[in-house]
Amino acid sequence: MKIQNYINGKMEDPISGNFIDNIEPATGKVYCSIPDSDEQDVEMAVQAAVKVQQAWKTLGADNIGRILNKIAEGIEENLENLAQAESTDNGKPIALAKMVDIPRAAENFRFFAASATQFASESHWMPGRAVNYTLRQPLGVVACISPWNLPLYLFTWKIAPALATGNTVVAKPSEITPATAYLLSKICQQAGLPDGVLNIIHGTGGRTGTPLVNHNKVKALSFTGGTATGALIASQLAPRFKKMSLELGGKNATIVFDDCNYDKALSTAVRAAFTNQGQICLCGSRIYVQEGIYDRFLQDFIAKVEKLKVGDPQDPASKIGAVVSKQHMEKILSHIEIAKSEGGKIEIGGHRIQLDGRCADGYFIAPTVITGLDNDCRTNQEEIFGPVATIQPFKNDEDVLALANNSNYGLACNIWTENINRATRLAEEIDAGIVWINTWLLRDLRTPFGGMKASGVGREGGWEAMRFFTEPKNVCIDYSSK
Ligand code: NDP
Repeated sequence: MKIQNYINGKMEDPISGNFIDNIEPATGKVYCSIPDSDEQDVEMAVQAAVKVQQAWKTLGADNIGRILNKIAEGIEENLENLAQAESTDNGKPIALAKMVDIPRAAENFRFFAASATQFASESHWMPGRAVNYTLRQPLGVVACISPWNLPLYLFTWKIAPALATGNTVVAKPSEITPATAYLLSKICQQAGLPDGVLNIIHGTGGRTGTPLVNHNKVKALSFTGGTATGALIASQLAPRFKKMSLELGGKNATIVFDDCNYDKALSTAVRAAFTNQGQICLCGSRIYVQEGIYDRFLQDFIAKVEKLKVGDPQDPASKIGAVVSKQHMEKILSHIEIAKSEGGKIEIGGHRIQLDGRCADGYFIAPTVITGLDNDCRTNQEEIFGPVATIQPFKNDEDVLALANNSNYGLACNIWTENINRATRLAEEIDAGIVWINTWLLRDLRTPFGGMKASGVGREGGWEAMRFFTEPKNVCIDYSSK
């Protein structure tokens, strides 16, 4: 397969003619090539978006909503094909792509199609004197940049609200997982999205991402990725006063109290640690268990992890697929070595897995559980973003709050207790943008989504996203006669 850029409604090779190999993580073999786009392609994409901005913004919410719904339908009609592409490209189990990633991508378009028709702005009345009303106008051309872990899911989570609010978009998926973004281009063509309204360019962060975010016609950036990349981009955009939403890394706590619903807490804690090979920013990789149930929980947790089938992502029975790249696999394995050197005990896993047949050279890592580590060590402080979780005991509420908050990150947290007062108190005190009580990854798309501290700046989701992609302007009308 040869992937192409989607610019001004057409599929285009990069102007330089250069392509990059793309590797299937489950096999370690090249399976397609992607454009190595540079500033020339970025220029072409931005110009296309500028040209149609006025027409798109004045199309009206109903018409915009109708087109976004057509794109959602196109995604649903291509569910099998997209799930297959996502699994091949990313290494994630096909069952997960079919059940979560692709349906959610369609849902993102449906949700923001409805939002377009419901979005309203405020008015502030000064009795007998004046009325203020707020216009929320599109920003113009905006950039959306997304990572490799949930490729189509996160790509569409940004593009849909940007389009719904009347902006035109230049978007870049991760160079590591470009396939479903390419297929989305074709779906947009078929759905009747006017040429130039959405442009998708492929390439590396440095050659494609940098000229895109720095382009003077690009008014805002919605970015999801690593904290270091976010910091670099913020340093480039802040002096230009560009609007930024940065959704960055996480090192999330799972907190299990003695009085929890044990079976539900146990199975969800396993899921929270290892879904998508632990490559979800919301994964609970620091697990704190209260002393009274610690020994039993650890034993049962390991028994459940032992049953997770690591296998070919194309096999519907596989629960754990390949990690996304050789480089990432090596990073995760090096973190396991660091954990050992810090005195950690590998309770299960801790090594690469060599499968037979087509996946013999794939990048598989056994789900790994580590105990005996201090909360301050690198393993408990740095984001590993792989199938690696630590488990630590704690005494009481105060103790676990200090442990959970002892982190540079502040994205998400899940708390397990049947004591609602305790859970509510902790939720107030935890440094995290998202707190789940007796659940994990239960998402309502209307809620604010994002993190604090090194996990990012700004919020996505619902009205937060609609507001991010618009410029509020207050208009004050003085109707008094004096
Ligand atoms: P990266 O930060 O490496 O990359 C994210 C995106 O930014 C990619 O498309 C990348 O392109 C691009 N990029 C890289 N450098 C630049 C640059 N200088 N200018 C513009 N764009 C650039 O993250 P990963 O792809 O490795 O994703 C994993 C990270 O994402 C983890 O830290 C994870 O926690 C975080 N994440 C956060 C979420 C949240 O909602 N808070 C959700 C999901 C993931 P390319 O890949 O082509 O180099």
